[in-house]
Amino acid sequence: MSCYALILAGGSGSRFSSEYPKQYEYLGGMTVLRRSLEVFLGHEEVDGVYVVYDEGHEGLYWDSVRGLEVGTPICGGRTRQESCYRGLCGLEGMGSPDKVLIHDAARPLVDSATITRVCEGLRRYKGVVAGVPVVDTLKRCGQSGGVVGTLDRRDIWRAQTPQGFDFATLLQGHRYYEGRDFTDDASILEELGEEVLVVEGSVENVKITRRCDLDRARRMLGVGMGGGLVVTGLGFDVHRFVEGRRLVLCGVEVEYELGLLGHSDADVGLHALTDGILGSMGLGDIGDYFPPTDMRWRDVDSRVFLGHALDLVRGRGGEVCHVDVTLLCERPRLGGYKERMRRTLGELCGLGEGRTSIKATTTEGLGFTGRGEGIAAQALVTVRVDV
Ligand code: MG
Repeated sequence: MSCYALILAGGSGSRFSSEYPKQYEYLGGMTVLRRSLEVFLGHEEVDGVYVVYDEGHEGLYWDSVRGLEVGTPICGGRTRQESCYRGLCGLEGMGSPDKVLIHDAARPLVDSATITRVCEGLRRYKGVVAGVPVVDTLKRCGQSGGVVGTLDRRDIWRAQTPQGFDFATLLQGHRYYEGRDFTDDASILEELGEEVLVVEGSVENVKITRRCDLDRARRMLGVGMGGGLVVTGLGFDVHRFVEGRRLVLCGVEVEYELGLLGHSDADVGLHALTDGILGSMGLGDIGDYFPPTDMRWRDVDSRVFLGHALDLVRGRGGEVCHVDVTLLCERPRLGGYKERMRRTLGELCGLGEGRTSIKATTTEGLGFTGRGEGIAAQALVTVRVDV
């Protein structure tokens, strides 16, 4: 008897005001998706774990599952139901399991005991839903907000995931009702006339839909609410002036008769910043990832280096919350470029107003910068880490 878990991680999370879709937000040092996956991967009755993801989130997905033994991911559709259907078809293509557990990635606090209860129910039923009884009194309200009546809450349960099914029956239902709108998979079996069992879920198995749900989940886990750690990283870099190259500083092209020599675009500001980001979590330096001997990085835009460092830090549960860059040179004068550089850094690092800083200074004619031989840059990076 084989049982696979299908984790639904599609959806852009339009109700979630964040640059990240909710399933890729960090919760206690790992993403919401990864936390969900680990529970299923660690369960003895689950033989394989597969994820339905949104094609647009490919990078986030692979970062999120690094090192985990999950199956080949399946591309989702426009709606939850379509994504689930595609996932089931994907599993069919890989040699249908006997049973399937459908779980929303946005419920990362699912516990192992709930999964066990669903699996036990599946020995007798073709459809099993984890749920919790409604304890609040239910009121029906009119348009003005006035109470029209009180509903009988006895026998009323809130359905959660995981929901477990006989694989062939669920796939058949999805095929049969393709295009009709159901809010969960159990509804499809009910429509087919199958009896669906409800087993006890958990009130902690919350669905992360809005920002406040994520904060609540963090409180439940005791992380991120002031319990996080703040770390810093320092970056430093120097490049020499040469003729015949563009001058790019902090992602902005600067007009000058000389450019900086380097294997990449030689953006000394972004190099210092990249090193600062890597340094904040002890991840080595830019040369470890992008050696100047590697032809792939020749004349490459340094935003690539910065993006990689940001991904690495985020992949370890870090959130860059402030960057401060200082450029040191006698010439050119950078005053007129600082605001554009600051805005560019904000966009590249996903930071809002007041979280990025660019400073420029001369060295009073002293040293190599004073003699106009090159530019030096320093960066200080502040990162919050869940512990
Ligand atoms: Mg450099």
